[in-house]
Amino acid sequence: MLTSREVRIDSVAGGPREMVRGAGSTDGAIDLGWLGQAGFLVQTAGHVVLIDPYLSDSLAKKYRGREFSYERLMPVPIGIAEIGRIDAVLCTHRHSDHMDPETLAAVTARHPACRFVVPAAELNHALAIGLPAERVLPIDAGQSVSLGEEGRAPHDLVVTAVAAAHETLERDDSHRHRFLGYVIETEGLAVYHSGDTVVYPGLAEKLAGLAIDLALLPVNGRDAQRTSRGVPGNMTADEALRLCNAVGIPLLVPHHFGMFAFNTASPADLDLLRSAGRSSPGRAAVRAVLPDLDHHLRLQARQSGQSDLKRRPAAESSSDHVPMTP
Ligand SMILES: [Zn+2]
Repeated sequence: MLTSREVRIDSVAGGPREMVRGAGSTDGAIDLGWLGQAGFLVQTAGHVVLIDPYLSDSLAKKYRGREFSYERLMPVPIGIAEIGRIDAVLCTHRHSDHMDPETLAAVTARHPACRFVVPAAELNHALAIGLPAERVLPIDAGQSVSLGEEGRAPHDLVVTAVAAAHETLERDDSHRHRFLGYVIETEGLAVYHSGDTVVYPGLAEKLAGLAIDLALLPVNGRDAQRTSRGVPGNMTADEALRLCNAVGIPLLVPHHFGMFAFNTASPADLDLLRSAGRSSPGRAAVRAVLPDLDHHLRLQARQSGQSDLKRRPAAESSSDHVPMTP
């Protein structure tokens, strides 16, 4: 098992709105604000990147009156107009809660320099919903794209695509993957957003060589009811924890819950994740931190003399490091 670097994660008061209002992120850190569903705002000293932002109500409008309600259970935590700078948006697949036409139209209009990383298999869809061709960076599994200024390490930011299976590994006629995850490498750290996926044979092996410090994994699970109605599923909380353990990823931030009533994580799964936020003998080594809209997370390499929250029960955390788990 490949052992990752020593990293720490701190919960900082203030959601994405406060995050972008601040003086920016410090060198050597990655700040992560949850946008709800699979969405994250990723901010470093050199970059502001959004992953799968669903910052509208477009699905509720699209599916009003249908069997499953797409009314949001949580508010839009920040508007695109409130974000002063966006360098790139990463979309893992074409489903509207990940590649939302309404949100992306706002980004396109407000942020003329922003680039869009999308699965090459969905390039036509990306263009059809209005993304400007000259700003789209199509990518397939196994390929990388650099979003940094070349040679300006550590402020380079490299995105590498990993195949995802939602719930199967679907490919287009050119054998390109329709569902992707992304590994973001910057500031000497590596964060893996899996996109929507189950744990498929070979995924752990693919990830094992990437020295991932933090995994952002969907935990809404899957069941016959959703499958029979054409709603593909994702991994369960237990599967997400097991994947991190198998790969040697020390930190897990679960997502894809709490947005739509019919397609969220079970209370038992959220409890399982909360218990993986506290150290207890015999339990998995991975620490899970549930995100919320009132805090953001700061990931950085652990320096000697610093406390290490990933080894401490939430109740013992100091007040300046508010634990995410209630
Ligand atoms: Zn999804």
